[in-house]
Amino acid sequence: MKIHSIKSFLDRISEGYAYHRIILDESETPCDYEFLDVNSAFEELTGLNGSEIIGKKITEILPDIRNDVFDWIEFYGKIALSGEETEIKQYSKPLDRWYRVNVYSPEKYYFVTLFTDISKDEERFRRLAENSQDLIYRYEFIPTPGFVYVNPTSTSIVGYTPEEHYNNPNLPFDLIHPKDKGTLEKYVQGLLPFDKPLELRYIHKNGQVVWIEQKSIPFYDSSGSLVALEGIGRDITQKKQIEERDNHLQKVIMGIRNVNQLIVKESNPDELIQKACDNLTETLGYYTAWIALFDEKQDVSLTASSGFNSEFEILTKQLENGNHPYCMQEALRSDVIIIIDSPLEKCIDCPLKSESSERAALCCRLQHNSHIFGVISVSVPKKYAYLEREHDMFKEVVGDIAFVLYNREIEEEKKQQEEHLLLMTRNMNDVVIETDIDGNYTYISPSHKRILGRGDELLGQNCFSKLHPDDQESAKGAFQKIVETCKENKAEYRYLHPDKGYIWLESIGTSYLKRNGEMSILINIRDITERKMAEDQAKNIAQEYETVFQGTQDSMFLVQVLENDEFQYIRTNKAHQESTGFSLEEVRGKTPRELLGKKKGDLVCANYARCVESKVPIFYEEFLTLPAGKKVWMTTLTPIIRDNDVRYIVGSSQDITGRKLAEKGLQKANKKLKETMIKANKMALQARSANKIKSEFLANTSHELRTPLNSVIGFSEILLEESMGDLNDTQKKYVSNISKSGKHLLKIINEILDLSRTESGKIEIHKEKFDLNNVFEEIREVMASQAIAKSINLQITSNENNLTVFADRRMIKQIIFNLVDNAIKFTPQNEKVSITAKISNENKILVSVSDTGIGIPENKIEEIFDPFIQVDGSTKRSYGGIGLGLSIVKKYVEMHGGDVWVESKIGEGSIFMFTLPIKQKVICFESLP
Ligand code: ADP
Repeated sequence: MKIHSIKSFLDRISEGYAYHRIILDESETPCDYEFLDVNSAFEELTGLNGSEIIGKKITEILPDIRNDVFDWIEFYGKIALSGEETEIKQYSKPLDRWYRVNVYSPEKYYFVTLFTDISKDEERFRRLAENSQDLIYRYEFIPTPGFVYVNPTSTSIVGYTPEEHYNNPNLPFDLIHPKDKGTLEKYVQGLLPFDKPLELRYIHKNGQVVWIEQKSIPFYDSSGSLVALEGIGRDITQKKQIEERDNHLQKVIMGIRNVNQLIVKESNPDELIQKACDNLTETLGYYTAWIALFDEKQDVSLTASSGFNSEFEILTKQLENGNHPYCMQEALRSDVIIIIDSPLEKCIDCPLKSESSERAALCCRLQHNSHIFGVISVSVPKKYAYLEREHDMFKEVVGDIAFVLYNREIEEEKKQQEEHLLLMTRNMNDVVIETDIDGNYTYISPSHKRILGRGDELLGQNCFSKLHPDDQESAKGAFQKIVETCKENKAEYRYLHPDKGYIWLESIGTSYLKRNGEMSILINIRDITERKMAEDQAKNIAQEYETVFQGTQDSMFLVQVLENDEFQYIRTNKAHQESTGFSLEEVRGKTPRELLGKKKGDLVCANYARCVESKVPIFYEEFLTLPAGKKVWMTTLTPIIRDNDVRYIVGSSQDITGRKLAEKGLQKANKKLKETMIKANKMALQARSANKIKSEFLANTSHELRTPLNSVIGFSEILLEESMGDLNDTQKKYVSNISKSGKHLLKIINEILDLSRTESGKIEIHKEKFDLNNVFEEIREVMASQAIAKSINLQITSNENNLTVFADRRMIKQIIFNLVDNAIKFTPQNEKVSITAKISNENKILVSVSDTGIGIPENKIEEIFDPFIQVDGSTKRSYGGIGLGLSIVKKYVEMHGGDVWVESKIGEGSIFMFTLPIKQKVICFESLP
């Protein structure tokens, strides 16, 4: 039942099913297999009847199987013995059908096949494959490696027929290009992805390289081993060649681009051609490159190369000897590119003939317009030797290099022209002439007439004819030198201007070759009369300076600053020579140390160095013993600066020995004076204290005198009153004399007492507030009798109602009393004395006592305030007094912080004025000496 069920199941499936047992020979090698079971689908797919074949061997059923390319028995035997499972697509020759067979072994020696007929698919595949442009193949690794299918296209792609493929399983490895062998091996080993197209080179049967892009589908067995590869190979040789060519051209383009960049930067032809060669080869566009340039005589003058070893050196030597290689000879003959496609054959004598048969040479002359500069040659892959694009690009490089060489020549010419033009147009105020080598004018610039007074009428004449006779020789000499040396030369000379007379000219001449090959002298002329005058002036100044230098009383010297703090005398003036005792010859060229010895020289150099350091004039005194004797000098060093460095020092020294001595004397005298002054001061101090003692003595004595004198006056007054009894006339007269003399003496004693008190500092000041007007009234009362006695009009005028002062009332009264007393005394009878008082602007009260008396001589005005000074000091004088009144006035006024002075005119009268401060506090005098 169970078997029946399986049987009916097997009969229902569409796949063919067969159960077999393998048969081994004596050596245990499979040699046949027998059918044990088949299903209905088997019978349909094979056309064999199950009942006829079961129990039979395959060799009995299909004896032709032994002739099949595919060894079925070996294939199945391997599975029946190993127990593996696999699937194959295989053509069965005896049945003439394609099957996809799945084989497995359920137990050793037995195997099952499950298969379908794929003949129709296969047919379709083959139709396609057979007509494909691509190479299509199937390669199986099991049971034995080899192609199982290769389409006929293989014959055209690699030159080998499918049969040749089937017969040689190793064919791919035989054909692979040596450079790609490794890649193919890796590919087959599965180390490279199968699904990615792989580009490999194979060698065609005809020996050419074929590029094949291949892509495969791998087939694996159940254990993961690669059993087959189905693949497609496309001939991409053309594409590859285009790519390769493009790549090459790209490299050439890069080389050209670099050359173009170089052309812009490099103007030196030597560098230019060398770098051009380098650029052309370093991008690998060209294998090698070389350039040879000609000089005017068409001799090779410059060569450059790149990509060679030492071969080019040999060629250079040949070129220098005029031995041109074949390609060069050809290239110079026409302007087309010369192609040497097989140098080995054509360039037998050329040291550059390449060993490689792969290379071809392209050679062309370097030409722009009609100028031929030389030749250039490059080597390229042989296959591109005739490539149009290759030629175009080579032409481009040739054109570019030729153009830059042409440009450089033009530049050179332009530069020369510019230099020429520059010379001609050096200055708007310059004149340009051109002469032949004899000095005859061949060209005269328009400015010639304007500046030198004559124009084209000079053409053909000799240019030296108008020169000052004294200058002709030197000018001709300078001209001759230009002709002989072809170098620029200068000259200065006088030229006879038709209107101005001789003017000074400077000329710069140069020679050049005209296009016709004749030599011309081009001369640029400039009027330098003004400069000459300035130079004359400078010369005059220099002369004047020289006069000053030599004529000055000061000793002068010029020192040159050398290196390392060393100095050298250049010159000295007469004064220097006289005052130092050194002659100019002795000094000139010597260093200070050489001239003065080390010690003195060091000192002198130190000062010079100071001047160099500070860069400003310096002054100093120096004491030097020179041949002319010991002297003190006042020296000034003035630096002469050039380019910010002190180059010279002008020294000027004054002999101040005399002055120094005088100064010393003066110092001595001063010292003496000082000592004397100190002495005098001492004496004055002593005198002052002596004066003080005197004053004290007087004050004391006066006091002692006053007491008895008061008794004398008092008792004589009493006697005169006759209260003690009558007096006769004589007695009255005598007593009256006693009284008068007593009073006079008392006045004198009082004055002495007052003055000595002030001088000894013993007087006390008692300030109080009082109205000055009141004091004036008291004065009027006291003085009235005196005034009346002389019929003098005593006027008191006060402009202010209130003249309040803060002062010592007794002293103020004494001041006014003394002044009025003097005024009345020195004023004749019937004249006028007046007292006025007002407040002055400076917050002071001004009191004036004026009279119309005898006046005071001008020379006495200052003195009269000093003690004991009187205008009439003689013993015969007509006015009483001892000359103390005004001294007391002065002291008292000053004690109050005021001033006293007098204005007077002889015979007209005097005005005594004093001031008293109103607001200021009265200075306290107690402490004053
Ligand atoms: P005395 O009047 O006692 O000689 P004074 O010191 O008062 O001393 O005066 C000094 C001198 O100044 C006087 O001797 C006189 O020569 C002169 N003198 C002073 N006042 C007047 C005056 N108003 N007119 C002219 N001479 C005067």
